[in-house]
Amino acid sequence: MEATKYEEWSLGLHQQAASQRVPISGTLEVTRRCNLTCVHCYNNLPLVDREVREAELSSQEYCQILDEIVDQGCLWLLFTGGEPFAKSDFLEIYTHAKKKGLLITLFTNGTLITPRIADYLVQWRPFSVEITLYGHTKETYERVTGIPGSYERCTRGIRLFMERDLPLKLKTMAIRPNKHELWDMKQFVEQDLGLEFKFDAMINPRFDCSVEPVAVRLTPEEIVELDLLDPERAMEWRRFDERFTCAVEASEQCTALYRCGGGINSFAIDPYGMLRLCILSQSASYDLRKGSFQAGWKSFLSAVRQTKTTRQSKCITCRIRAMCGMCPANGELEGRDPEEPIDFLCELAHLRAYALDISVTPHGECEYCRGGSKYEELMRAVAKLRRSSNKR
Ligand code: SF4
Ligand code: SF4
Repeated sequence: MEATKYEEWSLGLHQQAASQRVPISGTLEVTRRCNLTCVHCYNNLPLVDREVREAELSSQEYCQILDEIVDQGCLWLLFTGGEPFAKSDFLEIYTHAKKKGLLITLFTNGTLITPRIADYLVQWRPFSVEITLYGHTKETYERVTGIPGSYERCTRGIRLFMERDLPLKLKTMAIRPNKHELWDMKQFVEQDLGLEFKFDAMINPRFDCSVEPVAVRLTPEEIVELDLLDPERAMEWRRFDERFTCAVEASEQCTALYRCGGGINSFAIDPYGMLRLCILSQSASYDLRKGSFQAGWKSFLSAVRQTKTTRQSKCITCRIRAMCGMCPANGELEGRDPEEPIDFLCELAHLRAYALDISVTPHGECEYCRGGSKYEELMRAVAKLRRSSNKR
């Protein structure tokens, strides 16, 4: 199916699932252990941590959960980690998911891929595989991952998948240590390898509350500069605004804390069997070792979705909310408060909107809106960004 038709089809399915509350998409974080130690990572734990390994769901428990999620209507499944292939019985779990007919996306760092694994995936083909490339050169890649030899292992994994024509896409996290190689990575992947490439610059604090990853995060100005330097990316943001930016709702009618698809048409399960609205949301969880997925989905997550806001915030009637990473889970991770706007995200969303001529309407007291204390500064940044992107 061509990309735009596929997008329409998938969006239609999700909308239908949302109107009936069907768990159509799931994320299974099969392990948080990883063989790499990336500087920006929000959840990795040591590969050989025995205690962590023993706490993870067994393959039998996973197979039981897979049976239950399919019974409830799940169609799409994302396997992620940590590094999924760090879990020794991952292929057993994966194969069970395939046999259940799930459409599987696999996120991997690619470094543990062997010819045997690649051949196996040819036999049990995923819907798509995404490998994260952390740098164009070995030096930069390994500065991010912290592991000597990981660059060669990753490129070998890419080659093994490409030789077998597996549905591979490459991506990167744009962060301080690799920003200077971003366009080289894009050119290498798109032109030399002929694969799809995307990047993301959103970095979260770690689940254990460490803010270390945030130290390598790009500034809002640097992130928006990347948008402006890539016309396709700028166009995608404008398209996103036209399609998803919500109408401004009257604040008194907007009392729901959660406005995403979590618990409506999607869910996440961590390596220890805790069911949640999404992978980032850590506050409310249901133990699938103690109850069924059906009960977790139908009663627990449904109740979580009923949570109301406790106060008025500038996010409630913000027109660019869909473009902004601010959500209760991010609020909890970064500021310990699900309702408190995160200043970094707010600045980034406003700067991006102004730089791309996306309309921002008044939404209460906001320092980044016209008349706000940081508005003029943001406008100077927009002018500077436009000047520098016009020069290139
Ligand atoms: S490869 Fe992924 S999970 Fe592993 S350390 Fe890097 S970002 Fe974290
Ligand atoms: S841009 Fe600011 S006000 Fe709007 S949703 Fe994001 S954090 Fe909230």
